[in-house]
Amino acid sequence: MQDAHTWFVVGLDNGGNKNNATVLDGTGRFHVNQLLETPSRVLEGPDAAVQALAETFDTILELVGASRDVVRAVGLDTPGPASADGVISSQGSTNFAHAGWRSFDFRGAVEARLGLPVVYNNDGNAAALYAHHQLFGRDSARRSSIAAIVGTGLGGGVIVEGKVVKGAAGFAGELGHVHIPMEGLLGPDQPVPRCNCGFSGDAESVASLTAIEKNLLPYWLGRFPDHDLARAGSVKEAAKLVRDYGERGDALARHPCDPRHEEQRGEEGAPFGNRGGAERRYRDAQEEILQRPHGGQREPPCGVVPGQRYTRFMVSAG
Ligand SMILES: [Zn+2]
Repeated sequence: MQDAHTWFVVGLDNGGNKNNATVLDGTGRFHVNQLLETPSRVLEGPDAAVQALAETFDTILELVGASRDVVRAVGLDTPGPASADGVISSQGSTNFAHAGWRSFDFRGAVEARLGLPVVYNNDGNAAALYAHHQLFGRDSARRSSIAAIVGTGLGGGVIVEGKVVKGAAGFAGELGHVHIPMEGLLGPDQPVPRCNCGFSGDAESVASLTAIEKNLLPYWLGRFPDHDLARAGSVKEAAKLVRDYGERGDALARHPCDPRHEEQRGEEGAPFGNRGGAERRYRDAQEEILQRPHGGQREPPCGVVPGQRYTRFMVSAG
């Protein structure tokens, strides 16, 4: 058995526009602490994209000064929809629109191209797995967690005793398209938020960059036309600014994420009105999560993926 410091695993993150990569050694230590973005060429179809990933693989090894014969395996993640084993949906998707992607075995193709074992997860599950290991470290294999990954959409992942629960079709952790009760959550005359998937009132329709742009800001800026965000140029631009405003404590920007803020402003003029019971239930649920043992951590951890400005993990763990 080789010393754990002398062998490596490469992580390849495939996105609609960019690839990213990282390298870990056998002890689990990351050897890359920066984003290495290269074009993913996904729009050109599978051949170009597999070639682009092979180049990303070579580039990251060059960066850390490791040769490919010390690499034991590769972890690959892509956006969905794909099967649990990395076969892209026969229907295609936003990211995999090129006809060549339909039913394409992406994992198998990368494995054949690199000549190394390739383990596949969709990007939501990969992010959840990362968050799980960051949270539990050496305890990861004995603990379980659920992660919501808030970005353009709302992804998710379920980890049970250190292993990703993929489900038969690979969709087990998809939290974004689960319906949530809207009762008490909407302002006066606010339309029920619609999701790109066709549902009304699912989690992604209220908790994603797309939700802020399509559902929340159009309504709230209509009610508060003097707010700074109304001068952002477009709703799309304003949506991207909401998080920064929220972090600075802006009441309108914080409301979609944190109903607890309501109390601090009182009921008068509160952008979300009085949400009564729903707000209280949310608060009780938050308190309940906070009181669970977290290995000494008081707050549920929240991590930001470098370079993915609108991506944030929220992990509920037990
Ligand atoms: Zn949906």
